[in-house]
Amino acid sequence: MSSDGSTSSEEAIRPVGVFGDGCAALSLAARARDLPGYSLTIYQPDSGGPEKDHIWGFWGTPHLDRAARLAFARWQKWQLVSQDRAVVMTAEARPYHALRRSDWIADCRRAATSAGVGFAPMPPRPNDPATIWFDSRPPVVPDGMMLQHFVGLEVQTDSETFTPDTATLMDFRVDQSRGMHFIYLLPFSPTEALVESTLFTPRRAPDQFYLDAIDGYLKTHLGVDTYKVTHQERGVIPLGMMDRHDPEIAGIGGNGGAIRPSSGYAFAFIQKQIDRAIAGASHGSLHFAKPHQRVDLWMDAVLLRVLRHQPETAPDLFLRMASALTGDQFARFLSGEADWSLRLKVIMAMPKRMFVKAAMRLLLASPGLTMKAGRAWR
Ligand SMILES: Cc1cc2nc3c(=O)[nH]c(=O)nc-3n(C[C@H](O)[C@H](O)[C@H](O)COP(=O)(O)OP(=O)(O)OC[C@H]3O[C@@H](n4cnc5c(N)ncnc54)[C@H](O)[C@@H]3O)c2cc1C
Repeated sequence: MSSDGSTSSEEAIRPVGVFGDGCAALSLAARARDLPGYSLTIYQPDSGGPEKDHIWGFWGTPHLDRAARLAFARWQKWQLVSQDRAVVMTAEARPYHALRRSDWIADCRRAATSAGVGFAPMPPRPNDPATIWFDSRPPVVPDGMMLQHFVGLEVQTDSETFTPDTATLMDFRVDQSRGMHFIYLLPFSPTEALVESTLFTPRRAPDQFYLDAIDGYLKTHLGVDTYKVTHQERGVIPLGMMDRHDPEIAGIGGNGGAIRPSSGYAFAFIQKQIDRAIAGASHGSLHFAKPHQRVDLWMDAVLLRVLRHQPETAPDLFLRMASALTGDQFARFLSGEADWSLRLKVIMAMPKRMFVKAAMRLLLASPGLTMKAGRAWR
C-alpha cells in the first residue's frame, strides 16, 4: 500500500471468495488487513434464521491472544474424574478459556467490515474464474465414522453448587452403556455452569438420553434438585479426516481438516491454520493446510480405534494420561503442540498391549498410513 492507501498496482490484488460465514470464514475475514495482496469476499448461505450460539473452549497460547481477551471465563485448574478417582491439573502458562461464539463472530465481523471485506449471498457454484475460492461448508461425514455428540445446558441453581476455580473436562460417572460418555462442566460462578453430556460413538443418542444424564449427574453428584436452564447447545463433531464438501474447491476450517480427530477441538486449530496461511501468503500463495502433524493424526486414529472397540477403558486411559502430565503439558498435547518427548510421555502412560493391537489393526486398514479420509477413520 502507498501512503494514500492505494496499491501501487491494482492488478496485483487477487480476489478471494470464501463459501460460508462460520468460524473459519470469519476468523479469516477478521485478518484481512494481514493479507494486503488479496481482496476478500465472504459468501453467506441463506441460513433462514439467527445462528445458534455456543461456547468454545480452548487452551491459551500466544497465537490466541485476541480470543483470550474476548473469553468470558478462564481456569488455571481442571479435573478428570472416574468412578474411583479424580486427577486435578494446574496450568501455569496455558489456562483453559471459554469464549461465546456470538462474541467471537461479532468481533470478527467488525474487524472484517472495517478492513473492507465484502459480504454477499452464496452463489450455487464458484462464479468467477479469476477468484481464488475456498469452502468452509462442512466436509462429507461417512457412515460409521466416530462422532463426538453432545447436549449442553447452561444452568442456574438456587444454592451454591459449583466450584468456580476448577473446570471438569471429563467426569465419567455417567451411563457408559452406549459407549464412551462423560460430563463436561464449566463452572462460571457458584450458581452458574455449562453442563454437557458428551459421547464418543458412531451414533447420536436421542435428546432425552443427554438430558437425563445431565439431570442425573446434577442430582447424584452435586445434590441439585432444581435448576433453571438459561441456554441449550448441541452438536455433532465428526472425528477423523473427511472428503471436502466439494472436491473441486479447496477447504478451510473443518472442511480443511482442522478438527482434531481425538478430541473434536477445532477453534484453536482453525486459528493456527489461518496464521500459517497468512504467513505463507507473503511468499506468494494462499493455502490452508491441515494444522495437525501426521504423527498426531496417527496417534489419534489408534486412540479412536481403542475407544470404539473398548470404550469401557476410556476412563482409565484419560486419567492415566492426566496423571502422567502437568497441566501445561496436557494443554500442549491437546492443542497439537507436543514434541517427541511429550508424545513419548503419553505413549508410556498407556497400556501397551491394547495400543499395539489397535496400531496393528490400523496398519492393516491403512497400510500407507496416509491418514487421509478412508478406512483409517472407520
Ligand atoms: C455446539 C458446538 C460446540 C463446539 N465446541 C467446541 C469447543 O468447545 N472447542 C473447540 O475447539 N471446538 C468446538 N466445536 C467444534 C468447532 O470449533 C466448530 O464446529 C467450528 O464452528 C468449526 O468452524 P468451521 O468454520 O469449520 O464451521 P462452521 O463454523 O460450522 O461454519 C460452516 C459454514 O458453512 C455453512 N453451511 C453449513 N452447511 C451448509 C450447506 N449445506 N450449504 C451452505 N452453507 C452451509 C454454515 O452456515 C456456516 O456459515 C464445537 C462445535 C459445535 C457445533
